[in-house]
Amino acid sequence: PRKTLTQSDLLIEKALIDGDWIAGSQQPITIDDPFTEEVFAEVPSLSEEDTQRAITAASSAFPEWAGRTAQERGKLLRRWFDLIAENRDDLATLITLENGKPFAEAQGEVDYANGFMEFYAEEATRTLGEIIPANQPGRRMQADRQPVGVCAAITPWNFPLAMLTRKVGPALAAGCTMIAKPASQTPLTALAFAKLGQEAGIPKGVFQCLTGKASVLGNALTQSQTVRKLTFTGSTEVGVKLYEACAPTMKKISMELGGNAPLLIFDDADLDNAVETAMTAKFRNSGQSCVAANRIYVQDGIRDAFLSAFASKVKGLTAGDGFAEGTDIGPLIDRDGLAKVREHRDTALQAGAKCLAGGSDADGRLFTPTLIADLPKDAKPAQEETFGPLASVFGFTTFEEGLELANATPFGLAAYLCASDPQTIERASMGLESGMVGINTGLISTPLAPFGGVKMSGLGREGSHHGIAEYLNVKYLCQAQL
Ligand code: ADP
Repeated sequence: PRKTLTQSDLLIEKALIDGDWIAGSQQPITIDDPFTEEVFAEVPSLSEEDTQRAITAASSAFPEWAGRTAQERGKLLRRWFDLIAENRDDLATLITLENGKPFAEAQGEVDYANGFMEFYAEEATRTLGEIIPANQPGRRMQADRQPVGVCAAITPWNFPLAMLTRKVGPALAAGCTMIAKPASQTPLTALAFAKLGQEAGIPKGVFQCLTGKASVLGNALTQSQTVRKLTFTGSTEVGVKLYEACAPTMKKISMELGGNAPLLIFDDADLDNAVETAMTAKFRNSGQSCVAANRIYVQDGIRDAFLSAFASKVKGLTAGDGFAEGTDIGPLIDRDGLAKVREHRDTALQAGAKCLAGGSDADGRLFTPTLIADLPKDAKPAQEETFGPLASVFGFTTFEEGLELANATPFGLAAYLCASDPQTIERASMGLESGMVGINTGLISTPLAPFGGVKMSGLGREGSHHGIAEYLNVKYLCQAQL
């Protein structure tokens, strides 16, 4: 790697099964640096048998882990949190190395990710049950909560640490054991996280981290009767396949899938706030986020002022090396990702959209931050996530038209709106078909609040007390008097 870690043993090229670091026997998976495009590490390609071993280990570890007090589990998670905080810069370095995002954003991701460890270390002791007024005299009725059991987590590359901690934190706090399969592009952050968990004293088998071909590991995990829950963050396409694969074993499911978020900017919006909201909602993480504002709808009255202010901000963004000072936008994760963003830009321009900032091609996997406006309603960014630093602005005239355009998608993860009038805010936020609404802000994610979608954007919530409920089954107890 072109940047060394202060603790060199955090760059791990092995997978964690049952407390052992495994090298794997098949052709390894290579990890490249998205900025230099050079391979700098490799991780094992584990087999179905390796996955079975992990499932057995997770199952053996479960009773003892679930049997501990919630306070004990919380304490271990808190220790893990402390180690993550101590190794913040090394984890951020791994994130920038394998994902490409600017180092400051990687540090921000470590803090955000660790917020889930902290929150669920505390939440462990708060998974309260209920006493129910009985339906007959002498009876005692209660709703208890029990951990689901062995869980599998499949996570994406855009937030290599945060997409993991928002699953591991609540699962372990609830008393579940978990097997994680990070994205093939970004397994190193997950492996370092696993190492810190081991150092914190998380018992073997309670958290394991597998690397290898998604289909091999995915099949073994979804087909297993022992695995009682799958939690997935990734594309809707893969999510649908995994949902189907889990049906025969009736697993509990959480799915955090594609977004295609709209941002509605109404005439009475505060201009500076609208530009700021568009900048964060669009360009954070180089636009590679499932809550990125993919479709920016601007009402006629504020259109010109908004576009000129937004264009000058976009022109001020620098794309480059995530380790270089002053880089706002890192490279895209891979060449396929880059090709897609270029296609969105080029097809929109061919269809008559105007380019107001950027527009030129850059080196390697970099994409020049670009603003295009006046896209036709059916342009590609209206239909699918761009997942890159290309802002697409559409126009609208009436409130009803804006809301209809915003909802004209099969997806429903995040939506944003900028307005001042309380009635406009109320009507729009209630009418938007999404799991989350950012109002005059483009930054809504926090461990304290429920994150998740409706429609094709998924099932379940992560973060807040809702996030831990996903790892608990309700058990009803009805006791009669003897
Ligand atoms: P993204 O667009 O974020 O790459 P994917 O849905 O392709 O989204 O990938 C998200 C995660 O799902 C990654 O860890 C990837 O390896 C995994 N994955 C992809 N295809 C499959 C599959 N068929 N079975 C199991 N996991 C898969």
